[in-house]
Amino acid sequence: MIRSTMQRAPLSINQLLERAGRLFPDSEIVSRRPDKSLVRHSFSDFYRRSRQLASALLAAGLQKGDRVATLSWNHYAHLECYFGIPAAGGVMHTLNLRLAPDEIAWIANHAKDRFLIIDDILLPLYEQFRAKLPFEQVIVVPFSGAKVGDSFVDYEAFLAGAPAGFDYVAHEEDDPISMCYTSGTTGRPKGVVYSHRSTVIHTLMANQPDHWGLSAKDRVLPVTPMFHANCWGIPYCCVMLGIKLIFPGPHLHPEDLLALFAAEKPTYVLGVPTIWLTMAQLLESNPEKYKLPEGVRMLVGGAAMPESLIRTYLKHGAAVAQGWGMTETSPVGSIAYLKPELQGASEDERVARFATAGVPAPIMDLRIVDDEGREQPWDNKAVGEIQVRGPFITGSYHDVPQEPEKFTADGWLRTGDVAAIDAHGYIRIADRTKDLIKSGGEWISSVDMENLLMAHPSVQEAAVIAIPDPKWSERPLACVVLKPGRTATAEELRLHLAVKFAKWQLPDRFEYLDAIPRTSTGKFWKVKLRERFGA
Ligand code: ADP
Repeated sequence: MIRSTMQRAPLSINQLLERAGRLFPDSEIVSRRPDKSLVRHSFSDFYRRSRQLASALLAAGLQKGDRVATLSWNHYAHLECYFGIPAAGGVMHTLNLRLAPDEIAWIANHAKDRFLIIDDILLPLYEQFRAKLPFEQVIVVPFSGAKVGDSFVDYEAFLAGAPAGFDYVAHEEDDPISMCYTSGTTGRPKGVVYSHRSTVIHTLMANQPDHWGLSAKDRVLPVTPMFHANCWGIPYCCVMLGIKLIFPGPHLHPEDLLALFAAEKPTYVLGVPTIWLTMAQLLESNPEKYKLPEGVRMLVGGAAMPESLIRTYLKHGAAVAQGWGMTETSPVGSIAYLKPELQGASEDERVARFATAGVPAPIMDLRIVDDEGREQPWDNKAVGEIQVRGPFITGSYHDVPQEPEKFTADGWLRTGDVAAIDAHGYIRIADRTKDLIKSGGEWISSVDMENLLMAHPSVQEAAVIAIPDPKWSERPLACVVLKPGRTATAEELRLHLAVKFAKWQLPDRFEYLDAIPRTSTGKFWKVKLRERFGA
């Protein structure tokens, strides 16, 4: 039997850090502070400081595999944690600062976090759960510039006191580097643990020209939080290529983001649709005052991006691509781009492709499967649950009994998302299984209905939920937020929907709200709507 002659070297994110320090010392990291001033670091600073963090953690007694939690906004120090904690053999555990204090405490306890690195402005949140947690050390980033209290360790002093002469802690490629809990829309959140190997492969995958299309010329601004789903992998991708990073800190209001856009001119921005929904309102209200940087590209994911919104952004000069993924998939599972056969397509056809979740990412397998476990054809009609497997897809959850309903017998992850796939491979997500509306034995896609509602000129936001019905088992109910100063009666909206939906599919009820409730990751929170209107 012939054997490969290739060396067996473990994949390692430490190589990304080393290369960044050596090849891109002048690349920039811009972070917006709580007082809205900007602080600038070079990649050379980032390299030195990440290694100092690793060295200081080792000196503080960090053992291989120990969890170091972060409770932080997007900024330079969080990026240092992304690389410094694994460099010391630790596992970075990003805590979601939008969760309730009790939930954060539960998650940190479940993960057995030993140290906490936290922004000074988040200490009031920490005070609400500190009694429940035995962190050995709490290291405070003086993000606002205020003096760190004596009961805490000052992050800057911690770095300054790090022993010189740091060596990376040896590791295998399957050793863990970070972990993140799912948002727990159903039941308790569950932990996903990423490895050197899964992260390096995911980074190489995402950094392809036909996927995110990033290059050294880019300036990237992730609105996507670094505390959730690896910030979609963008920190690793940018460090690998030496790309300038622009971090918005705690200021995520669209007006603040547009000001930061104007100051730093990002070429690539990432975030969930709800962010872009509110920003579009500003752009439309005063196109003279509010402008996007010329030629900016946007990556939108985490929930469906309505086609109407993609068109609004096109009008304002932005190119929008959609992706799909989840905490369990590192998180990118698919990306929209134009395949070779579609390069000459009409604008309508192109926009329609970008309104899908795109095509499956390389280096993983994706299929759709019906309720009986039969794989479905890619004909744009058959729908089924998306199932995935591959080197950056989780095969289990941290420290819980294996859940058969989350994995198939042949080892695929069941995503709980229902989709159809067209002959070119573009995925159209119809719903999450738990959001599907089953009426009179037929399915109604809430995503399709929401997208069409949001294309109505008077509608700002829309979420469609199932409510129990004695005759039909479930009926759709549409929750609608109107644009300021606009009106639209239920009858008008029904007529608008009737263009694409059959009569039996149209909602009987419309509820007019001031805003659709948001989850901790900024998506429409349908559970809350079902609680309110479902009874
Ligand atoms: P949560 O939504 O509970 O916060 P995740 O952040 O892991 O958890 O989100 C994963 C889910 O987000 C997917 O399972 C899917 O339902 C939804 N999602 C992600 N991208 C898209 C998209 N482009 N279109 C529709 N839904 C999406």
